[in-house]
Amino acid sequence: MRSEFLIFGSPKIEEDEINEVVDSLRKCWLGTGPKVAQFENQFKEYVGAKHAVAVHSCTAALHLSMIASDIGPGDEVITTPMTFAATANSIIHTGGIPVFIDVNRDTMTIDVKQIEEKITTRTKAIIPVHFAGRACQMDEIIALANKYKLKIINDAAHAIETDYHGKKVSNYGNLTTYSFYSTKNLATGEGGMVTTDDGELAEKIKIYGLHGMTKDAWKRFSDTGYKHYEIIYPGFKYNMMDMQAALGIHQLEKIERYSICRKEIWDRYNEAFAELPLFLPAAVEPNTRHAFHLYTILLDLSKVKITRDEFMNLLHRENIGTGVHYTALHLHPYYKERFGYKKGDFPNTEFIGERTVSLPISAKLTDQDVEDVIGAVKNILHNNKK
Ligand SMILES: *Cc1c(COP(=O)(O)O)cnc(C)c1O
Repeated sequence: MRSEFLIFGSPKIEEDEINEVVDSLRKCWLGTGPKVAQFENQFKEYVGAKHAVAVHSCTAALHLSMIASDIGPGDEVITTPMTFAATANSIIHTGGIPVFIDVNRDTMTIDVKQIEEKITTRTKAIIPVHFAGRACQMDEIIALANKYKLKIINDAAHAIETDYHGKKVSNYGNLTTYSFYSTKNLATGEGGMVTTDDGELAEKIKIYGLHGMTKDAWKRFSDTGYKHYEIIYPGFKYNMMDMQAALGIHQLEKIERYSICRKEIWDRYNEAFAELPLFLPAAVEPNTRHAFHLYTILLDLSKVKITRDEFMNLLHRENIGTGVHYTALHLHPYYKERFGYKKGDFPNTEFIGERTVSLPISAKLTDQDVEDVIGAVKNILHNNKK
């Protein structure tokens, strides 16, 4: 057994990131400043968007996107229950109602065939979740959005590198939100971004994200003289700090290199696990690029004597950390009680939610780490065959 615990999703932080944060500290620029502006510019370039607004988290990015899209009380927004709670909560915070649609069992992304029957006169937007880094079927989603005049807000928390038909997902729909949480492909501790090609939307998001103030605070105290601000919206405090952007600037420079590492680990897992009682991730669709954010395996419960949780505990005992992405969102107490969702409503999401385990996949893993994960998974499944 390996001697050190392998932490799931631990980010790779190197000297250049450390030096950049120290530089912020030495310059005493702790809040939103020039590094945030630089990170926004680099990021919008990378994803091919006209505008990027850096914020404190993807949760903040989603909330601001709902507000900028004029989602209000009683408005319905379509998404899937195979996502993190923040996707649905951002809708609820505006008074809107999340309308869940089941996912495809193999791709784990929204089943586009089921969307149209859930569209009503109150439906305002769709949030495609590019799960694990796999692009949703955007052609079909865009066709529906055009037909029913719906906005598209991409939840691209897993999907910075993801391409759909040759372009990054930010090129489809109105707004795209990203996460730079510690476990994500680009990590700034906490952090997020909204991208859009619409300058007015970007401006609104920027202002709403900083108290509803007309002038950037970092310009307010600059050497060009004091400027008064005006409050034009009831805004939030969602701005990113320069110390976060310091990490982001260097993480983004390495994202392509890290992507190659992730793909290699993905391929090694696929090969090593081919004969085991598992459902492996579906092949990547032609003409798309997968971000390889999560490597999720589904335990074939008909062929093993253990539950998913027991499997995770056994891996933990082998010093391998894992994650669950996700137990079905609609079965959490709040959504059940508030919206009347129940078991059986979304069979594919529930099927995945009961069986899924995310194995470590990050640029930080050594060859030996990957071998340890493979060895532990094989052993545990061998010892617990039905
Ligand atoms: C991580 C995540 C979020 C929230 O991101 P934060 O930056 O932690 O707020 C939202 N949606 C999905 C799908 C995520 O994985």
